[in-house]
Amino acid sequence: MRDGIIPPGSTIGILGGGQLGRMTAMAAARLGYRTLVYSPEFDAISGQVAGHVQGAYEDDDTLARFAAQVDVITYEFENVPEATVVACEKHKPVRPGVRPIHFAQHRLREKEFFRKSGLGTADYQSIACEADLGKATALPGILKTCTEGYDGKGQVRVATKAELAAAWDRLGRRECILEALVDFDCEVSAIVARGLGGQTRCFPIGLNDHRDGILRTTTVPSGLPKATLAEAERLGVQLARSLELVGLVALEMFVTKDGGVLANEMAPRPHNSGHWTIDACATSQFEQLVRAICGLPLGAVDLLAPSRMENLIGEEANDWLRYVSDPTARLHRYGKAKARPGRKMGHVTYVNPT
Ligand code: AMP
Repeated sequence: MRDGIIPPGSTIGILGGGQLGRMTAMAAARLGYRTLVYSPEFDAISGQVAGHVQGAYEDDDTLARFAAQVDVITYEFENVPEATVVACEKHKPVRPGVRPIHFAQHRLREKEFFRKSGLGTADYQSIACEADLGKATALPGILKTCTEGYDGKGQVRVATKAELAAAWDRLGRRECILEALVDFDCEVSAIVARGLGGQTRCFPIGLNDHRDGILRTTTVPSGLPKATLAEAERLGVQLARSLELVGLVALEMFVTKDGGVLANEMAPRPHNSGHWTIDACATSQFEQLVRAICGLPLGAVDLLAPSRMENLIGEEANDWLRYVSDPTARLHRYGKAKARPGRKMGHVTYVNPT
């Protein structure tokens, strides 16, 4: 396609079959794109709103058949194997590409990349072998596995070297990172789009409330001082530029008691803390991803109304009648069959919340 632009009528391929791909497919359809999802599950929830190819991420033949049917490929989770992205790149452009997941998949690489890109972080150190335990100084802290942790999984709070040793044992003596505990005032996130030509646009900064490591609510506007918001946006944009990505990146940050902003974690894809944009922003994060990877101009990110997004976790989604009866609530259910504890089943956005 000329200049890398993928026009409406084309087909977007998405690696991963969850709610982020599902909401991307819904936004893509509005602009006249088709979507084909690739995932190992036979009943991927995005398959309810898009075409679906069932295949293993290691199955190069099925990946090639999938790639032949699409014009551009993206991913909806950062733990897609690097080799899968490389295999897809042989056939079609993959945006945002392999570089962002290389860093996002591994907490130590991620933190090193933040520092190299000029983003401040909590103090941290690598805990990869027995000898590292004795040298630990980032205490009290949180011991996190370098790979495969999400929503607070694979994390243990530790106050002493003895607790650290026990926690490392409990995490299977795997490669870990010990991060000093940040006594933060609040948590925020920046979601930044970067287009084919390198232009960037950051959504209004959301104020995030986590419980047990899982995001519960995002509120916009956050009510934070202008200087803090500007700093959070600056870090997000700086990250998108350093990654040279074409697509979206979400950066979760801590706002410290003295007003400083530290980078915690990134995700090179739409993010749970950006779901409010569907109902309360000129362009949703999902449409913005489609615009970025298809080489369209990035959309406006003006806040249309104050909003608060609440995740519906496990059985909470069974209360759907209450939400659809509330005129200030916009209900989003992800089409998941089974409500397990801790599973994100949907969300509700309150527009102009009281
Ligand atoms: P993460 O998976 O790294 O995003 O961590 C999940 C949540 O745990 C964060 O949103 C924070 O609420 C908390 N957390 C993680 N790392 C730290 C830290 N170094 N200091 C204080 N709280 C943290």
